[in-house]
Amino acid sequence: MDISVVIPLYNEEESLSELFQWIARVMKENHFSYEVIFVNDGSTDKSWKVIESLKAQAPDAVHGIKFRRNYGKSPALYSGFELAQGDVVITMDADLQDSPDEIPELYRMIKEEGYDLVSGWKQKRYDPLSKTIPTKLFNATARKVSGIHNLHDFNCGLKAYRNEVIKSIEVYGEMHRYIPYLAKNAGFKKIGEKVVHHQARKYGKTKFGLDRFVNGYLDLISLWFTSTFGIQPMHFFGLLGSLMFIFGLIAVMIVGFGKLIAMHSGVPYRLVTDSPYFYLSLTSMIIGTQLFVAGFLGELITRNAPERNKYLIEKTI
Ligand code: UDP
Ligand code: MG
Repeated sequence: MDISVVIPLYNEEESLSELFQWIARVMKENHFSYEVIFVNDGSTDKSWKVIESLKAQAPDAVHGIKFRRNYGKSPALYSGFELAQGDVVITMDADLQDSPDEIPELYRMIKEEGYDLVSGWKQKRYDPLSKTIPTKLFNATARKVSGIHNLHDFNCGLKAYRNEVIKSIEVYGEMHRYIPYLAKNAGFKKIGEKVVHHQARKYGKTKFGLDRFVNGYLDLISLWFTSTFGIQPMHFFGLLGSLMFIFGLIAVMIVGFGKLIAMHSGVPYRLVTDSPYFYLSLTSMIIGTQLFVAGFLGELITRNAPERNKYLIEKTI
């Protein structure tokens, strides 16, 4: 099969059949064999009814998955990816903001230009300002942290992947914002971008509020941490802990010896416990030790991680 289109959706009843007809038309014009996987993320409207009727119309082309409750876009994508059989997998939002007309070019870029992942770039966006400005900031940070400098729009719903890519990464929580980073961490280097058309939302309303930016930043930090120190957390905690401990030790020695010298030379002196430096150095030593212990705990946890010795490999046949 050439293409799998994975569509996560939450309460998008008005858009679905228009979207499917449009995809089907594009596929037919370009002679692609394809499947469309609708992942209904616990919608409370009639979305599932619509998907069932599409399935009845085109049993070979349509697959539906339904969550019993709303889990989020990432779990929806994950479940769609598990089923996807096409050589190229395209993800797309259900709200008609992404255009299926982009599919042939995305397919060509993966197949002919050898990209592992091509992300859409909504260069001209039809979203409110309250969303576009924080998005710019978000993307700049994501570029810096991930080291993928050529992407302008990490969180674009319209993306294309080589099948191996989606089978090798695990999208969870709200990590759909960082799929290119996940792909890079899995060893896929050829990550490209294509400018795509974007439209204002026709039906329904956006499912994400401003909390997306707070969560987005926290997720980025977690991802950076796990990709840098995930296998050996001691390298992070141990270094930090040692530095703090040594700093505290030296400081406490200065306070102690200072007093001894003062006693010896008959200069008036105070109790060490009267000096604020004593408490600061003590605190620093305690925190240092705790960080070290956190490192050991981290090592014990990764020791039990089943994927500790799983590597993504390619073999000669
Ligand atoms: N979506 C989902 N589960 C959720 C929230 C959103 O499957 O919990 C889907 C939604 O139906 C849409 C896509 O994710 O197909 C993108 O959502 P939305 O259009 O609300 O995001 P925006 O375009 O505002 O970034
Ligand atoms: Mg949208």
